[in-house]
Amino acid sequence: MTPAEPDEIAQRLRGTPLIIMLDIDGTLCDIVERADVASIPGTARESLRTLIGKRDRGVHVAFVTGRSVADARRMLSIGGVTIYGNHGMEHLSESGNITGPKGWEDAGLALRDARNDLHAVVARFPGTSIEDKGFSLTLHFREMDMALLPALDARVAEIARARGVTLAPGKCVINVLASESLTKGDAVLEIVHELGGDSPDASILFAGDDVTDEDGFRALRAFRNATTVRVGAPDATTDAQFSVDTPREIHDLLDVLAVSRS
Ligand SMILES: [Mg+2]
Repeated sequence: MTPAEPDEIAQRLRGTPLIIMLDIDGTLCDIVERADVASIPGTARESLRTLIGKRDRGVHVAFVTGRSVADARRMLSIGGVTIYGNHGMEHLSESGNITGPKGWEDAGLALRDARNDLHAVVARFPGTSIEDKGFSLTLHFREMDMALLPALDARVAEIARARGVTLAPGKCVINVLASESLTKGDAVLEIVHELGGDSPDASILFAGDDVTDEDGFRALRAFRNATTVRVGAPDATTDAQFSVDTPREIHDLLDVLAVSRS
């Protein structure tokens, strides 16, 4: 992984179609104590609007987020967006249809049982809460006493084993996914294939900041025309090719791309 400037990254993204895939929290906006007050600055929103408006010139923007589609749509408040929510399990198309993965009903039962168990955990560990996102659950522990973390981890792992669900750790969260869950890697590949990213003339970008984004970075390693960017302090274990320090550099990159495509 190489630290890079927004201009250098933009240089790699001159192909058409240009497929831009973005995580939201920690990538487009800073992570804040309460996820419901996180917001994307107006200038970045403007660049996104410009890029989304260039669909007829082969520019595509898709958001790939752990948030539910409904929550991400509310937060972005940009018309005609494509969103893969719940870590890739839920899809909002440009036309506004929301679809879930096939065979979801059975997987949903395991998740429901896990949710009931986790409510008892939240009662025992002050400062934790559960967010039910329909296709996945998120256990938040940002406000918990961190001395309790090993005990919390152990208890949640026990529930996951008993109920047959999968855990995906994040920043002060534990994501609980039905074991058949799709990942951000699946979502990223689906978007690339759907939009013609297999063409050697295409350019592909995926930016993310967290553990579940690594599935997306890994999935794109097979594509020579893909550029992957991790937001945050340099991390030797990432599968992303490039790193930038903060969401601010992603905003600058979007600005450069919006200008160069006009
Ligand atoms: Mg993130």
